[in-house]
Amino acid sequence: MKGIFIIADGLGGRPSDIDGKTCLEAADTPYLDALATRGSSGLVDPIGPGVRPGSDTAHLSLMGYDPYEVYTGRGVFECLGIGMDVKAGDICFRANFGSVETSDDGLRLLDRRAGRINEGQKDLEAALRGLSIPGTEIDFLASTQHRGALRIRGEGLSRFISETDPHVIGELLHPSAPTADVPGAQKTADLVNQITQQSYELLVEHPLNQKRISEGKLPANVLLLRGAADCPDLPSIESIYGVRGAVIAGGALYRGVAEACGMTYIPVEGATGGLDTDIVAKAEAVLNALKTYDYVFCHLKGTDNAGHDQDAEAKKAFIERMDTELFKTLIERVDWDSTHLAFTGDHCTPIDYGDHTVDPVPVLFVGPNIPRDSGTTIGIRVAGQGGLGRFSGRVLPMLLGYCNWAPKFGS
Ligand code: ZN
Ligand code: ZN
Repeated sequence: MKGIFIIADGLGGRPSDIDGKTCLEAADTPYLDALATRGSSGLVDPIGPGVRPGSDTAHLSLMGYDPYEVYTGRGVFECLGIGMDVKAGDICFRANFGSVETSDDGLRLLDRRAGRINEGQKDLEAALRGLSIPGTEIDFLASTQHRGALRIRGEGLSRFISETDPHVIGELLHPSAPTADVPGAQKTADLVNQITQQSYELLVEHPLNQKRISEGKLPANVLLLRGAADCPDLPSIESIYGVRGAVIAGGALYRGVAEACGMTYIPVEGATGGLDTDIVAKAEAVLNALKTYDYVFCHLKGTDNAGHDQDAEAKKAFIERMDTELFKTLIERVDWDSTHLAFTGDHCTPIDYGDHTVDPVPVLFVGPNIPRDSGTTIGIRVAGQGGLGRFSGRVLPMLLGYCNWAPKFGS
């Protein structure tokens, strides 16, 4: 048996998306419909009914973990997802390049994304190798646009500290402070404040920033740190089910979650984690990975990006592109006598709301052990009448179970 698990981020929507239909319902998806005709659909509450999911917590839940038990923050997934190693005791952050100006009271925020910087980040990363505080090891890596991740390694650190990003233009950067009375929190908050100040000093005169300013662009002259997290204690999927999995994802966060679950990352050229991602390349990578691994998890982010942008046409178009560039390929080239597929989203990102909501998400299972229901598509209303009913999280354990890999609980 082989397993394929596909998550389209923020796949779900609401009737307000397009003329009384969700984007998934409105999209023209003949190949997805063909799969739905062969399989069984349902609705999944990614974490639980009434819980508004973040992407990281939703993914943990869909992979079979209890996020209320294991989630320590997004920073660790950002660091893993960018290729850093993370060990117990490290504190990890999502680190954005931001734009600030000095004022009498401190650094004042001009932009949270440094004018959506899209070149020269590796030069800035090199400059930030100058971050230095005795007794600690500080690592920063830039990823796409303004994004990056930072890891502090040292003795007696704590994740219970606040972020420095004020989220509001014109406000002073917030000094990090302990959020709980626990050992190490004050020390870690102090380190974060020193790193913030040092990042400004290392970047403010950087030639790239002088060039940006001369071109009328915002400088990338500070690191904004948020999502402090330490290493979560997750038993790997392999240790539970005895099977090996691979992850194909353009977004660092999703690669990071999957790596934390024990999956092996497979890089794909052109996988951007955005609407412009190369879905054809990802489909090929899924088929290739299936030769080596028992199951493959493939993440597509474009649906969520379009939802946040409140762009119904872009979301619908991305779903239609998935249909022809991914599902058509799978229909034609997967051995369906020995393969199970699960397809869902990690939450809804409706167009009019522009953010994640509590609504359940359609889910589809296809494979030899899955009884067909009467559905011929997987829009939210059809899925609500589907053979799988409505359940919470745990889509990957269900998929692995259909592949006959689930351990028995009890005797
Ligand atoms: Zn998401
Ligand atoms: Zn989102």
